[in-house]
Amino acid sequence: MDIIYRSTRGDSKPYTASQAVIKGLCDDGGLFVPDRFPKLGVELDRLPGLSYRETAYEVMKEFLTDYTREELLDCINRAYDGKFDDEEIAPLVKKGDQFFLELFHGRTIAFKDMALSILPHLLTTAMKKNKVDKEVVILTATSGDTGKAALAGFADVPGTRIIVFYPKGGVSRIQELQMVTEKGKNTKVVGVRGNFDDCQTGVKNIFNDEALKEELDKFGYVFSSANSINIGRLIPQVAYYVYAYGRMIKSGEIKAGESIDFVVPTGNFGNILAGYYAKKMGLPVNRLICASNENRVLYDFFRTGCYDRNREFILTSSPSMDILISSNLERLIYLICGSDPKANAGLMESLRRDGKYEISREMAGELKDFCGYYAGEDEVFATIRDLYEKTGYVIDTHTAVAAAADRKHKAEAGDGIKSVIVSTASPYKFTGNVMKAILSNKGADAIKSPEEKDDFELVDELSVLSKVKIPPAVEEIRNAKILHDTVCDVKDMKETVRSSLL
Ligand SMILES: *Cc1c(COP(=O)(O)O)cnc(C)c1O
Repeated sequence: MDIIYRSTRGDSKPYTASQAVIKGLCDDGGLFVPDRFPKLGVELDRLPGLSYRETAYEVMKEFLTDYTREELLDCINRAYDGKFDDEEIAPLVKKGDQFFLELFHGRTIAFKDMALSILPHLLTTAMKKNKVDKEVVILTATSGDTGKAALAGFADVPGTRIIVFYPKGGVSRIQELQMVTEKGKNTKVVGVRGNFDDCQTGVKNIFNDEALKEELDKFGYVFSSANSINIGRLIPQVAYYVYAYGRMIKSGEIKAGESIDFVVPTGNFGNILAGYYAKKMGLPVNRLICASNENRVLYDFFRTGCYDRNREFILTSSPSMDILISSNLERLIYLICGSDPKANAGLMESLRRDGKYEISREMAGELKDFCGYYAGEDEVFATIRDLYEKTGYVIDTHTAVAAAADRKHKAEAGDGIKSVIVSTASPYKFTGNVMKAILSNKGADAIKSPEEKDDFELVDELSVLSKVKIPPAVEEIRNAKILHDTVCDVKDMKETVRSSLL
């Protein structure tokens, strides 16, 4: 039987998976959720024999039921190919007594590639299936990471265009270079004189501009977003949890059926929610450990049952986790209130109105599969340094938040259950802070401090220290030509979109 998707907030209109992929967000502002959780169709002891692509197929066919076998395989084969700099796609490595699932071998060396390399194919396939004969225009505002991952995913995908807005001067040099050197012929990158919020508001205004929508419709264009709430991003992420479990069996670390924990560096709650969906499919997951940085809204939520965004926003060394509203948490709230859209909508309304909500005792009881930890900046730096000194392995700042949480949880739980740390970015993506951490007790040896060095100087040093080859994604931009130099004011964003399409 087909899986049907409906809103978390009460609009009971049913959508097929492909329709939900096209739509992204529900009309009532809710998120699409499946009407039930399918079981994994493959025995656990067969998982070690499956490749990443085969695993992805086993997972995705259960959720995206209106896609044919051929369609899904085609999407998977186009997404998880030589773009990844490791044949395994998502290798699992053991360093000391910790396991790391490396999700950073794609085009932009961070985990968003896992979903954004396949979303464009799921989306264009969905358009064909539903006979929507339009060219999709993806509009994205980025604070740095999502922009390039979306550009790389949509680059030269027929039937799509992508326009990315980033705050000029508000992203790192490497992040900016990654974007402005993008070669895809259907891509446009625009620097905005403003901050990230301005970019995001600008994009929202364009999405809500009915006159512009109508005008573009006449020319055969339709807007869409590559937002992390799209089920076309969420479902592909379930696959790497299943894959990691298979690798743990294969390496003899666990027996099929044995439960493990996953530790996930969390921001918008998309990654860890995919882990929960894997558990719902029957994967033996004991706990999902939600790791936060100093923006510890989720940590407080798991400890107290109160979600409260009314607090200072802190800029940390793990910027992709600097988030006060974790949008995908709504899907978990919906489940723990007994899939009652009214109850969920009430809580989301109080979040909108008061910036907070509190869940009932009963709901809190449903959260026992999760626990939260957080790591402060000092702990993050110490974790990177310790791991490097003990094992020679270098992790990025986001992964370090999770590695620190893993230690704390192990000490507290003392249950001997094995855990896998979900590693979300290559250390080469956050070289400055990573080098600062590693060199922090070398004192006078480090003649120039990392702040004074050129980004690429640090990249070269990191490769000497870590003995890990510089990823092609970084080498490529070192001398690449700048292909996008448009800069505009916030008020001109709409006209920039119009003129680039018409
Ligand atoms: C986006 C991101 C995260 C947070 O993932 P969510 O799905 O938003 O919780 C963590 N680490 C890195 C490197 C990221 O880019």
